[in-house]
Amino acid sequence: MKITYKQKLTLSFVLIFTVFTVGIILFEQYRARGYKTEALEEKLEAYSDLAYSYISGVQGPDVSKIDSLLALFPSNLRLTCVSPDGSVRYDNLFADPGQLENHAQRPEVVAARSVGRGYDIRTSASNSNPYLYFAKYYGDMVVRAALPYDIEVQHLLEPDNVFLYFIVVMFVAGILLIRYVGGHFGGSIRRLRDFSEAIARNEDEMTIPQFPQDELGEIGRRISKGYKRLKESESRLSVEREKLLQHVQISAEGICFFKSDRSVAFYNGLFLRYLNAIVSNPDMNDILSADAFAQVREFILSDSGENYYEYTIKKSKREFLLRLNRFEDNSFEVVLNDVSEQEKTRRLKREMTGNIAHELRTPVTSIRGFLETILEMPLSEQQQRKFIEKAYNQTLVLSELIRDMGLLTKIEENPDNYDFHPVDLHLLLDKVEEELKPDLAHNQMSFHNRLPEPTIVRGNEGLLHSVFRNLTDNAVKYAGQNTEINITRIGQEGNMLEISFADTGKGIADEAHLSRIFERFYRVDEGRTRDAGGSGLGLSIVRNAVLIHGGMIRARNRAEGGLEFILRLPVM
Ligand code: ADP
Repeated sequence: MKITYKQKLTLSFVLIFTVFTVGIILFEQYRARGYKTEALEEKLEAYSDLAYSYISGVQGPDVSKIDSLLALFPSNLRLTCVSPDGSVRYDNLFADPGQLENHAQRPEVVAARSVGRGYDIRTSASNSNPYLYFAKYYGDMVVRAALPYDIEVQHLLEPDNVFLYFIVVMFVAGILLIRYVGGHFGGSIRRLRDFSEAIARNEDEMTIPQFPQDELGEIGRRISKGYKRLKESESRLSVEREKLLQHVQISAEGICFFKSDRSVAFYNGLFLRYLNAIVSNPDMNDILSADAFAQVREFILSDSGENYYEYTIKKSKREFLLRLNRFEDNSFEVVLNDVSEQEKTRRLKREMTGNIAHELRTPVTSIRGFLETILEMPLSEQQQRKFIEKAYNQTLVLSELIRDMGLLTKIEENPDNYDFHPVDLHLLLDKVEEELKPDLAHNQMSFHNRLPEPTIVRGNEGLLHSVFRNLTDNAVKYAGQNTEINITRIGQEGNMLEISFADTGKGIADEAHLSRIFERFYRVDEGRTRDAGGSGLGLSIVRNAVLIHGGMIRARNRAEGGLEFILRLPVM
């Protein structure tokens, strides 16, 4: 059972008070007993004196006279006359005192013989009651008087015993006072206790109690102030933590926090995705047990003093950069990044730079050769003009290359810069035909725009123009003399319009080439296409332009001969 502070305080004060009160009562009783004994002694001395003076005479005391005196004394008085040698000469309780034993050794008699008077309290052998024996020595006789010694406690409770009542009243008043004081202190302590219990329960909505204006109250107020500050910083911290976790959750990196015992504290969705790509069926309770994380385990267990470590994990064509950060409390974070794309881009850029250098080299070398010939060879004016024309043609190739590269970069890097509007493809193809009329005529080619009028798609006019201009250019370049270009509507699937752009040329015999013609700088027949003046970027531009429309393009050889491009473009 739990005893409250108030109960404890009351109990201990009651105990002290009880001890104190009982002490006073006992002392008072002792004192009262002393007074009563003294008074009794005086009374007994008076009886002894009276008895002796009555029996004393010239021939010595005459004990036989005492009987006649007894009527004056209290009936319960025992009177004994003892000779100096101790033999009993008279006893009012015994008719024949001779039969009583010698009283020389009775303590009161011994005292009377030595100092004149003496007393003793003891139980009478005759009636088992306590008696006060008083003895006085008169020179020739020891007179002993005795009365029952009945100073009982109950006598102290007599109505006139004011002192006792005073003590009892004080006792009760003391207890009431203690209860009041205890209640006062208890209240402060109880409030403090309730408050501490609320803190222990970690209640969010906690009212701070009104503490009294005393030292305990002061302590309570200080604790509550400290607690309030703690709560405030706790909530500030939790807001910051929430922000941080939210940031981690949407981070473009896979992040996982580990506690110092290597158990997982927190991870974001991307980490889980990457983890699943690296480890099949990862054990979330023991992520680091996977082989791919052996280096993490080693680093964490090592005491190198280093706090940062990174390495790449390769897993089926994908590459992940793992970075490990160890914190002061030995907890750590593992950050995963999918660098496959970056690697691919880096490789592509390397290839692209190489390709561009290669593409530039040919026309530049030609121009240089033609100009060197003009400068160094003794040429006729007609021959010089021929070389200048050749050099000029190569500058056209360079311009085309630069234009195509610029367009391709613009499409790839700023696809958002293009506006999309309804575009009539029939009209657009008419324009393309118009532009290339001389080239078509030169090759005796016919151009059949069989698209319904109008054929509206949602697109960027400039880009769509590039698409069909490039396809027509290619047909002119590669389909050969006396061929046809046919543009037809295949149909519509959902939101997508399907169009065929086909020529009746030779097509691309080798299927391996067919699958690569959309790559940058890819040419089926290096020598021939170069002569045709192609940059090798035409179909790359076509594909990228179609892709940013949300469409698609593929190429196939027609059964009847010739190359066919199937395009899908959105109608709205
Ligand atoms: P280029 O600028 O060299 O024409 P493209 O990317 O436009 O480059 O074309 C890639 C290659 O695809 C060309 O080198 C050519 O060999 C082949 N090709 C393109 N269109 C046709 C076509 N209509 N018929 C046959 N081959 C074609």
